[in-house]
Amino acid sequence: MTKSFTVTARDPASSARTAVLGTAHGVVETPAFMPVASQGSVKGLTHAVLEELGAQIILVNAYHLSLRPGADAVAALGGVHGFISWQKPLLSDSGGFQIFSMSPLVKVVEEGVRFSSHLDGTKIFLTPEDAVDIQAKLGTDIMMCLDYFPPYPATETTMREAMERTGRWAARAKKRFDARESLQQFWGISQGGVYPDLRAGGIAGLMEIGFDGYAYGGLGIGEPKSRLFEVLEQGDALLPVDKPRYLMGMGYIEDIFEAVARGVDMFDCVLPTRNARNGSLFTSRGRISIKNVKYAADANPLDEACSCYTCRNFSRAYLRHLFERGEIASAVLNTIHNLHFYLDIFRRIRHSIQSNSFSLLKKSILSDSNVEKEEKT
Ligand SMILES: [Zn+2]
Repeated sequence: MTKSFTVTARDPASSARTAVLGTAHGVVETPAFMPVASQGSVKGLTHAVLEELGAQIILVNAYHLSLRPGADAVAALGGVHGFISWQKPLLSDSGGFQIFSMSPLVKVVEEGVRFSSHLDGTKIFLTPEDAVDIQAKLGTDIMMCLDYFPPYPATETTMREAMERTGRWAARAKKRFDARESLQQFWGISQGGVYPDLRAGGIAGLMEIGFDGYAYGGLGIGEPKSRLFEVLEQGDALLPVDKPRYLMGMGYIEDIFEAVARGVDMFDCVLPTRNARNGSLFTSRGRISIKNVKYAADANPLDEACSCYTCRNFSRAYLRHLFERGEIASAVLNTIHNLHFYLDIFRRIRHSIQSNSFSLLKKSILSDSNVEKEEKT
């Protein structure tokens, strides 16, 4: 079961599907949301709470962990699973996105990428092979290829170069990965922006190399939603149906439903956790900014329809008070709620696909209680 993907149900009206993804540390039911634990911790939560919330898999970042405490240090402490004491599935991002978005002085050459650490300016040269070696030391269940993409908008020529280079890097990385026996999975990342020919070329190149799963990279960086959905439709037609598909870094509920309808299985995003710490909370009636003075004497729970610990026990007035005082409990309780909200939507998505009611659920969540908008009062 270390590398399996079994489709268990299909929505007759779209490409939405449920599946069971097998990894070396257990199974993940998809469509699945991966809470982000870049440094090996979902900010504000213990692993025990994460498990109670029903998180099946979390995402760590190879870029951050390789800078501190270092891949060798993590390996000596039992890999990420041992180091952070999480025995369920883990996915590591290669760090490409962080390098291109966080590091000063990035220079991409054919051999790899040269950049300065965002921490202390140390110069680092990272090759696609290094990204494999680092993630092998981290021992995560799913490791990602090092990819490269220019900021949006990019000309077709620039995007073509990035897509082709990402493809050559993918081939080199796969060769390095294949050189050792491993229970880890290795997933490729397609580039090509929103240029249909380039995206198709990127996907075809990855499929020729052959990966355990396929990700869409370089999206959600400013392109119009309609173009994004076209890319996913195109990918749906091209990608093998018996391998998992992962839309990286995108987490608006509306986008998640549209992506699931186009055959996407895996998601990650900092949105629920980061928003929670900023006091922006998702509810079944819309988004709430808990710092708003109108909640100062509000004895109601955050969301009447929510069964999480926060909503079962505390008032909006108390949550506002904690936020205003800068109490750590504010981040904890808000994160519990927002992650519960996300993981619960994914449970409902899976159930709806299995009971032939995905389009009904999609319509009801996206229309009458638009979760992206401010709460209706
Ligand atoms: Zn709640």
